[in-house]
Amino acid sequence: MPRDSVAELLAHATAALDREFGSLESFEAEPGGNDGALLQVLEETARRLGDNYPYFHPLYAGQMLKPPHPVARAAYALAMKINPNNHALDGGRASSAMEVEAVREIAGMFGWTEFLGHLTSSGTIANLEALWIAGQLRPGQRTVGSEQAHYTHQRISAVLKLDYTPVAVDEWGRMRPETLEDELRKGDVGTVVATLGTTAVGAVDPLEEILALAARYCCRVHVDAAYGGYFGLIADDLGDSARRAYAAIGRADSIVIDPHKHGLQPYGCGCVLFRDPGVGRFYKHDSPYTYFTSKQLHLGEISLECSRAGASAVALWATQRLLPLVKGGEFARGLAKGRRAAVELDRRLRADERFVALGEIVPGFSSASNPEHPPQLDIVVWALASHAADFGEISERTTKVFDACAARGLHLALVQLPRSWFGHKDRDSERSDTFKCLRSVLMKPEHEAWVGRIWEKLNEASERLF
Ligand SMILES: *Cc1c(COP(=O)(O)O)cnc(C)c1O
Repeated sequence: MPRDSVAELLAHATAALDREFGSLESFEAEPGGNDGALLQVLEETARRLGDNYPYFHPLYAGQMLKPPHPVARAAYALAMKINPNNHALDGGRASSAMEVEAVREIAGMFGWTEFLGHLTSSGTIANLEALWIAGQLRPGQRTVGSEQAHYTHQRISAVLKLDYTPVAVDEWGRMRPETLEDELRKGDVGTVVATLGTTAVGAVDPLEEILALAARYCCRVHVDAAYGGYFGLIADDLGDSARRAYAAIGRADSIVIDPHKHGLQPYGCGCVLFRDPGVGRFYKHDSPYTYFTSKQLHLGEISLECSRAGASAVALWATQRLLPLVKGGEFARGLAKGRRAAVELDRRLRADERFVALGEIVPGFSSASNPEHPPQLDIVVWALASHAADFGEISERTTKVFDACAARGLHLALVQLPRSWFGHKDRDSERSDTFKCLRSVLMKPEHEAWVGRIWEKLNEASERLF
């Protein structure tokens, strides 16, 4: 295992922080506890965590999980000495200022300088705020998003009492503009949710076309880029349609991005941005106790949540100091590594007749006629070739491959996807049924070096099942 340098970094930083507060009168902190007991409890804690799954190793390549950067872990732990609360300036003066700076850098990635935005505890809360504002600007109107949009959009809409309609997707999981237009023609849609990087397959909705339609039918556009938001930094490495979508992102009305997904942060860090700072008027409230000391705009006045971890802002700020959000920088190179790992795994799957990659054998949509095929980002999905087996049998075999990989220390994920995406036509129904597929999220920079090993294990695990 690589050396974990966080403890050393933290010791240095804690000494520096202690110097900052060195002029305070000394006092005895309570509760203390003796070192022996603390150590014992922490050893027990480590033993319990040993059973945790998923984890940091590159052979864990299933669900979305990217370990926080050491600087984020150390900065977060450092801030814990104070435990600032970014509900308002009064809850954490320095950490609030750091949040404002860090969020401005994220907005800058989308070309925004005048905007309203802040961190949230998650992408779900960030999307909730975006749809809450959208609902107030377009009262009584519907919200539409693709069938592959994150499942929380339906729930959020139910909470906000907004009508929500899913729109059909194509064989790569992207919203179909013609189906979107059918909905828009009905005249009652207020907001379109476009996803840049769907959770299941990393599909990128055709944002340019969506923005053009939304302009024609006077709708707002909210971009859910919780997963994929950072890929704009390596847009030149993406396929043409994804690149065009990222080029258009700055024209959206609101954007959600999760620093705790691809931004190397501990969980508890989402972000919502609005292009029009004027939407701040909807957040107005009178709290009797939180805002006394400043006439400045308080984070608490532009956020739905009250208490929020100031440590999240501190960790994000420190990470962006070390790894600025710029094209060609170290952070962007890390994203590009995962992307290359995904492209390589996908290439091997396509060349192997035991597997069917996404978009591989859909008639008229095949990779041969369409050189720009999935994966659009760094998520790879594939099915087992059918070879006349029925779908029940394919699902069973897929589970066996998944288990055999896990037995060899390679952890993938299972996902239900429409059969039609893998070339199976359903005779009896217009809508395609789903079946079990395999999925790998190659979001760790180490995955580029490990993709050969991942393939070896997948190959071994599949050998006896065909
Ligand atoms: C993960 C994700 C969400 C939800 O974000 P949380 O931070 O898990 O609450 C929303 N949308 C997309 C596209 C996501 O990938």
